[in-house]
Amino acid sequence: MKWKEQMLHLRAYQPGKSIEDVKKLYGLKEIIKLASNENSYGYSPYVDDALNNLDVSYTIYPDGNASTLRTATASLLHLDEKQLIFSNGTDELVQIISRAMLEPGRNTVMASPTFPQYKHAAIMEGAETREVALTNGFHDLDNMLKAMDVNTAIVWICNPNNPTGCYIPEMEIRHFLERVPSDVLVVLDEAYFDYVTQSYDSLSFIQEFPNLIIMRTFSKIYGLASFRVGYGISSPAIIQTLEPIRLPFNTNVLGQIAATAALSDQEFVARCRVRNTVELEKYYAFCDENNLSYFPSQGNFILINFGRDADEVAEWLLAKGLIVRSGKSLGFPTSVRITIGREDQNEQVRSALKELMTEEIAK
Ligand SMILES: *Cc1c(COP(=O)(O)O)cnc(C)c1O
Repeated sequence: MKWKEQMLHLRAYQPGKSIEDVKKLYGLKEIIKLASNENSYGYSPYVDDALNNLDVSYTIYPDGNASTLRTATASLLHLDEKQLIFSNGTDELVQIISRAMLEPGRNTVMASPTFPQYKHAAIMEGAETREVALTNGFHDLDNMLKAMDVNTAIVWICNPNNPTGCYIPEMEIRHFLERVPSDVLVVLDEAYFDYVTQSYDSLSFIQEFPNLIIMRTFSKIYGLASFRVGYGISSPAIIQTLEPIRLPFNTNVLGQIAATAALSDQEFVARCRVRNTVELEKYYAFCDENNLSYFPSQGNFILINFGRDADEVAEWLLAKGLIVRSGKSLGFPTSVRITIGREDQNEQVRSALKELMTEEIAK
């Protein structure tokens, strides 16, 4: 059959073990999943209120324009409604942007390691990927600029970066945006935007740099990963050009309603951010006490280097019902990425890790 050649080398997304898998595998009752950076505090109670008082028909197609969610988002962020595109999670937006710009002969620049979907989408479109190594967990913006040429169509900036959590400050992003050729689209992935304690006003960059698109999601701090809603913010011109690629009904009626309700509870978001910072600090202290190196994180996760096979550490935690992400498949073979959970959950993780390290010394 006539498959696209480049597709044959791609692997399907490998989901981590599910809660049910781990229960069965280890005969455990209680499982804590801290592997995919979901919000351990759940979501705003406004979401349940909205979903318990539905007035919709499941027989009718959803509003393809996501009008109510669009109006709410535009109003909260002080944007024009034409500056927004909604997607089936940010994952779909990565695909939409890539489909719009990438083809054989073109290239796209990204950090490495970073969120894997950028590369995946580029390969599907037959474009060349140019990966620029992180320096100490941070994007190397100078070398990313150097990697560009006349055939570069997109540059991806994941801020804070997944899996390191490192956050590029305003001055550096600005300096970068000023130097990127104006015909290269800069995609700023802000999946963890609301976790950042000292964030800059990236939306103001949209006015200043017409080649910029920002991606955000309801999957992380809003706690609605299963509803699959993400969005992009850019100039009306860029949004209008992307729109024909989007599937007509890419966000569903329940997702739109849940996201709209979640957006109206910014106090919930602020509470989660504060708690996350407090809990991150405890991880830092733990790492310092135990001589473990880590990256400073502005996300709801921390990448800790254990200096040994990451799969072993992940397995050890798994056997205790704690699901985390081995860094092996993330480009950090001796590190483990742990989602910051609730206080009690984090304490369980740290005490299991402590046990592992004590046992190691006793050997
Ligand atoms: C989780 C994540 C996303 C994707 O989220 P969706 O659920 O598809 O909205 C995008 N970018 C980064 C960096 C992420 O970590």
